[in-house]
Amino acid sequence: MQRTGRKGLSLARRLYTSRILGLMLGLLLVSVAVYPLDPAPWVWWAMLFNGLLWPHVAYQWARRAAQPYQAERRNLLIDAFLGGFWVVAMQFNPLPTAVTLAMMAMNNVSIGGLRFLFAGAAVQVTGIALGLAIFPLTSVPMTSSAQLYASLPLLCIYPLALGWICFRQTDILGRQKRELLALSRTDSLTGLLNHGAWKDRLNEEFQRCLRQPHDGAGHGVIALMDIDHFKAINDTYGHGAGDIVLRQLGKMLKQNLRATDIVGRYGGDEFCVILPDLTLHKAVLAMEALRERFALLGYEQAPALKGSLSIGLAAFNPAYGDATLWLNDADQALYEAKTGGRNRVVCHRQCQMLEEPAVSF
Ligand code: GH3
Ligand code: MG
Repeated sequence: MQRTGRKGLSLARRLYTSRILGLMLGLLLVSVAVYPLDPAPWVWWAMLFNGLLWPHVAYQWARRAAQPYQAERRNLLIDAFLGGFWVVAMQFNPLPTAVTLAMMAMNNVSIGGLRFLFAGAAVQVTGIALGLAIFPLTSVPMTSSAQLYASLPLLCIYPLALGWICFRQTDILGRQKRELLALSRTDSLTGLLNHGAWKDRLNEEFQRCLRQPHDGAGHGVIALMDIDHFKAINDTYGHGAGDIVLRQLGKMLKQNLRATDIVGRYGGDEFCVILPDLTLHKAVLAMEALRERFALLGYEQAPALKGSLSIGLAAFNPAYGDATLWLNDADQALYEAKTGGRNRVVCHRQCQMLEEPAVSF
């Protein structure tokens, strides 16, 4: 409900400026077109009201309405109705009539697409019908040069203003789309990549590793890490403290890994890292350092709280058919770290055979 309200208000604000401009230029065009027809004084008053006061009345009406969006659509239909009426008051003078109808059609299609274009046209017909009842057609006037010049400001300035408004809208929408996309790829608790986004990056990294020559240099390693006995942390210190531990771990990963490393929250208390262009040996050293650092972290809110990490590693192997197999190996290594007693770094067996034999894990 609130969203609809905001949407309507922003539409009303947007239309306020364009309506002031469009109707002021329209007033010039209609006055010059009806002047030779010597209309009754009330017609002049009606024209002045429509051209100068109506934009403010319409805006306040929409602003105070319970549903501004609906109110603004009604205002637009009133615009269309009055447009039809003035076209007859001008006795269908060719150029001012064409300019009036074209500008209104452009306005309506830009706001509500084809449906609103047709709705506006239907209401315009009723405006024309009322106009015909009041101003019977007496002649078919030709457009004078004064009327041609009076049509030019509306013809030239209004599309420019509307184009600018549409451009600004598109720009804002583009920015919002980018922000939403970033949000949809981010884990809200830690600010790291979320599960889906990290897996997309894993697939990209896997393809990159496949393209690289298999010259024995480290292509990359993935690490899966899981906090030990995290359920007990939640149970003992509360979920709030658990959240702080997760945030601290995320922060620590961001601060202590290379800018090129790709860090994500896999889900729950499990985190995942891609370490591109690194040998398994160097990855083990980096993960050992992280494990030790995490064990030393203190928490103001719960001074007695200490956590530990189990980490499973798997180096890229050209024999992998796809990235899932690579991930499965890291998962298997993590499982071994857990069953082996937790608080440790374990490499998948396959990887140990691929890497420097001098390194013991
Ligand atoms: P293990 O050593 O085997 O990993 O034991 P564990 O207790 O850590 O077990 P597990 O990893 O399965 O526990 C994950 C827990 O994390 C379960 C769930 O309640 C908790 N959890 C998941 N997401 C969140 C979260 O966003 N905040 C908090 N505070 N807890 C979470
Ligand atoms: Mg755990």
